[in-house]
Amino acid sequence: MPEKTIFEKIRDKEIKSEIVFEDDVAIAFKDVNPQAPVHILVIPRQRLAGFPELKSADPTFVGAFIARVARVAGELGLEKDGYRIVFNSGKNGQQSVDYLHAHIIGGRQMGWPPG
Ligand code: 5GP
Repeated sequence: MPEKTIFEKIRDKEIKSEIVFEDDVAIAFKDVNPQAPVHILVIPRQRLAGFPELKSADPTFVGAFIARVARVAGELGLEKDGYRIVFNSGKNGQQSVDYLHAHIIGGRQMGWPPG
């Protein structure tokens, strides 16, 4: 068996995290190194390595996962002032964990372009 990623360990409750949402499709938890007052990571319960894997994923699953990201952002109270969703992908995207995850970042004014 290959070594589990840190997010598999969080998903399997082998490592503690502050979970804010969980169902059969997705798990959302606080980023350990927050970049804004609100910084949540949303992962699918079933591991995909990253964004490119969505090309061949079941569209029903993809839709359900994105709906969970929107739902969590809404439940966090971010809809009024807005928020940012980030999927870092690969080296140039500075992806550091090989498990698909959406960053929900909010609670402050964002800048553009991103760093
Ligand atoms: P990436 O750079 O791959 O897009 O994002 C990975 C994110 O995971 C980073 O923002 C990092 O702070 C977060 N992270 C890494 N290890 C842990 C951990 O053990 N627990 C939590 N809650 N977040 C983590």
